[in-house]
Amino acid sequence: MKEQMTWQELPIGGVITEAGNSVEYVTGGWRAFRPVIDFERCTHCLLCWLYCPDVSMQAVAGKLTGVDLLHCKGCGICAAVCPPQVITMVAEAEFAGEKEGVR
Ligand code: SF4
Ligand code: SF4
Repeated sequence: MKEQMTWQELPIGGVITEAGNSVEYVTGGWRAFRPVIDFERCTHCLLCWLYCPDVSMQAVAGKLTGVDLLHCKGCGICAAVCPPQVITMVAEAEFAGEKEGVR
């Protein structure tokens, strides 16, 4: 993953010069709320994985495994589309001091 650029290093106008480079940017820092999944009640339908605009829902072999918090922006779409309503959007302040990553 690239180091964060300073504003002086950004392309003029914020133009994206390389395709598929979003993974190199830690957009999780924008988040005010994070999705917390109740895996006891998750049915692994993967609708959250399908709808997440940041490809932040992680799945392995058809099972939901966690959230990529380095890139999740906290939009809440996953919580809105989850049929059994097992995703809760929790204020980031509740996790102050915790390390970011996949959880
Ligand atoms: S809150 Fe938004 S960005 Fe984060 S996992 Fe859910 S749908 Fe994706
Ligand atoms: S939408 Fe809800 S039930 Fe379906 S995989 Fe995601 S968290 Fe689990």
